Amino acid sequence: MTIATTNPVTGQVLKTYEAMSDEQLDDAIERTDLAYRQLCGTTLEQRGWWMNTVADLLEAERDEIARLMTTEMGKTLAAAKAEVTKCAAACRFYAERAAEFLADEPADARAVSATRAFVRYQPIGPVLAVMPWNFPLWQVMRFAAPALMAGNTGLLKHASSVPQTALLLEDVFRRAGFPEGAFTTLLVGADAVDRILSDTRVRAATLTGSEAAGRSIAQIAGRELKKTVLELGGSDPFVVMPSADVELAAEVATTARCQNNGQSCIAAKRFIVHTDVYDVFAEAFAHRMSALRVGDPMDDDTDVGPLASEGGRDEVDAQVRDAVDKGASVLCGGEKPGGAGWFYPPTVVADLNPGMRMWAEEVFGPVAGLYRVSSYDDAIELANGTAFGLGSNAWTRDPQEQERFATDLEAGAVFINGITTSYPQLPFGGVKKSGYGRELSAQGMREFCNVKTVWMGVGTAPAGAGVHSE
Ligand code: NAP
Repeated sequence: MTIATTNPVTGQVLKTYEAMSDEQLDDAIERTDLAYRQLCGTTLEQRGWWMNTVADLLEAERDEIARLMTTEMGKTLAAAKAEVTKCAAACRFYAERAAEFLADEPADARAVSATRAFVRYQPIGPVLAVMPWNFPLWQVMRFAAPALMAGNTGLLKHASSVPQTALLLEDVFRRAGFPEGAFTTLLVGADAVDRILSDTRVRAATLTGSEAAGRSIAQIAGRELKKTVLELGGSDPFVVMPSADVELAAEVATTARCQNNGQSCIAAKRFIVHTDVYDVFAEAFAHRMSALRVGDPMDDDTDVGPLASEGGRDEVDAQVRDAVDKGASVLCGGEKPGGAGWFYPPTVVADLNPGMRMWAEEVFGPVAGLYRVSSYDDAIELANGTAFGLGSNAWTRDPQEQERFATDLEAGAVFINGITTSYPQLPFGGVKKSGYGRELSAQGMREFCNVKTVWMGVGTAPAGAGVHSE
């Protein structure tokens, strides 16, 4: 794959990069290993100061960074600005809370015959981050802020389509004062991941991306016995029950499906609606989806920009064509436009059945599948009847139903009467084919820590009978 910036509005290649040679790669890994030794010897206060400076730089340079992201992958400028602001907030969150998340955790010393026993969280070393283009700043920062605050160093292999954002990130960490090599961008294709992860100096990997990439990285990590966190795809259900505020649900559904031009792992993708409110919801939803303005993402009036690649746009169109050919109905959109740019209209497809691609696959574009159900149990069966389990959404004002959805939905997150999103304060991740491990919150920070047991005694001999050793 070529490493290049290509504007999705025009299809024009703006800048290309040579992939790093094996020698350059080796030097970069050596630098990050040296930086690790330096970084884990620094205090949390020092790291917090650098991390807050990263936030300052992001905020000061927000508009310029946002324009670069929009140019490289087509998200609207407003969304790109919001992403930069969210990244700065995550940096500040970890700068402020790291001491609490990494504090020694006392254990019951008497129960383990110790004078003192506790758990200590320590860094593990250089971590490889393989990242996607869809939130080119946020996906990286939600890994880097906790990892670097914990004293690890980061090696970023970003998507080949966002090289300038990748280089900008390295530059921001350097300018904030982090030691040289603490955060390094590797300009390489996916084929270099095996070599990097096999290197003994690299201790772990985190991937945000597709199922195929997840399988490949998990295989390498399995062979090398290295820890991984995998954040993969999703086909999130959005369930609407009779007691819901249906108009509001339709409004939020529109944003939930079309945010980031429909290219979000936690976008709602399957809209499962109770038959009592199906017709009202379907009409309101299709009306709102077709009212969205598709166009130049730099334009303030645009709601939905182009898809990030021509291949991505063709894949979405092929999924819609497959459904239509097999008898589905299109309530709005559904036609690939001609002309420049990789645009696709907001689309609602109804009357889906299990023989159609849309039923089982993730649709990574502004296309919603609409499903009718006649009971809570049917809704749950359909919502969980997918290989994925990332986010999920349920709309109901019935308190008992709210509790049931919270338990019954098979997903890493359940959002009731609100849009699924991520917060630094809450864990983020999936179950089933959506991956494993968690990012964000204290959990995310501890994924790349050595959870070390410390037992201290007075030096007496073991008691003999009853002593058990693993
Ligand atoms: P992708 O093709 O898997 O690419 C993601 C990253 O993985 C890129 O850096 C890519 O490098 C690399 N990669 C691709 N194949 C690889 C392989 N076989 N071995 C090692 N690395 C490999 O994913 P995408 O299509 O760009 O992104 C969309 C997917 O990401 C969707 O499925 C979406 O749901 C998922 N996603 C998940 C989350 C989450 O938090 N769970 C968040 C956002 C997106 P190249 O660019 O060089 O190919």
